[in-house]
Amino acid sequence: MTAVSVSLGVGPNAGSAPGTPAGPAAPDRSALASPLVGAAAEARERAAARERARAERRARLAGVTRRRRSDAELWEVARRGQEELGGSGPGSADEATAEEVIAWAVREFGDGLAVASSMTDSVLSYLVSRQLRWVDVLFGDTGYHFAETLGTRAAVEHELDVTVVDVRPRLTVAQQDAVHGPDLFERDAESCCRMRKVEPMREALAGYEAWATGLRRGDSATRRHAPLVTWDSSNNLVKINPIAAWSDDDLVSFALRHRLVVNPLLNDGYPSIGCAPCTRRVAPGEDPRAGRWAGLDKVECGLHV
Ligand code: SF4
Repeated sequence: MTAVSVSLGVGPNAGSAPGTPAGPAAPDRSALASPLVGAAAEARERAAARERARAERRARLAGVTRRRRSDAELWEVARRGQEELGGSGPGSADEATAEEVIAWAVREFGDGLAVASSMTDSVLSYLVSRQLRWVDVLFGDTGYHFAETLGTRAAVEHELDVTVVDVRPRLTVAQQDAVHGPDLFERDAESCCRMRKVEPMREALAGYEAWATGLRRGDSATRRHAPLVTWDSSNNLVKINPIAAWSDDDLVSFALRHRLVVNPLLNDGYPSIGCAPCTRRVAPGEDPRAGRWAGLDKVECGLHV
């Protein structure tokens, strides 16, 4: 996501005009440009190949009738999963690793598994895509995101073997303004989150048996005891938190090691990123989620409660 500026030596001062004394040797523009042209063509081809693979997967899935197991059956799967993977309890040394949790989830649910991403980073999407190529990555597109978040979403689609699914509210921001008055987030953040995040995601999740989230115990006090696998009674499916045990350092070093896309706002004072009107920078040493709904008695959008 880092913008790279490359000078090709073009413009009014590049090279020498005919008849003028020879200055320093002008850069060979074709020699500089050709690797860039080649790299751009390669990137285009990779993106096109990814689109073809996604289309093939969509066509394959469209021809398959898959029975969604009953809530009781899935509840039992969640119980068994936590028993198999959870070791002695959340945070214990004998808990399964993220890769082991994902391997179990892929075996258990296959294409009935989705990933939810806020586009803060792409670590979880990458981890799951290594074991389930073209997995659906659900992005709650509220209409209020920072440009950097939308840029991260585009980069994830470009760079990873995943299928990004934009989950949108029924009303556009303009329609919501017309029906409920402008800037509902200022007057009733609960209703705004419910209409723009929680209900659309619940509807999207109804087509799956399980979802994997990037929720981590270190995020906040309310997430401190998050299990690796649980029954999500709000959305009636299995909820999997493969990186629940990861620290900030674990996440950052993994992203760096694998050269993964991260939201540039992470390096700009936003350790937790939500909608632009409801997210502010935090000061060094402040709670990482202090910038979310600052000044309100609200710490979660409602998706993870
Ligand atoms: S985070 Fe703010 S803008 Fe986004 S849905 Fe919730 S209240 Fe609305």
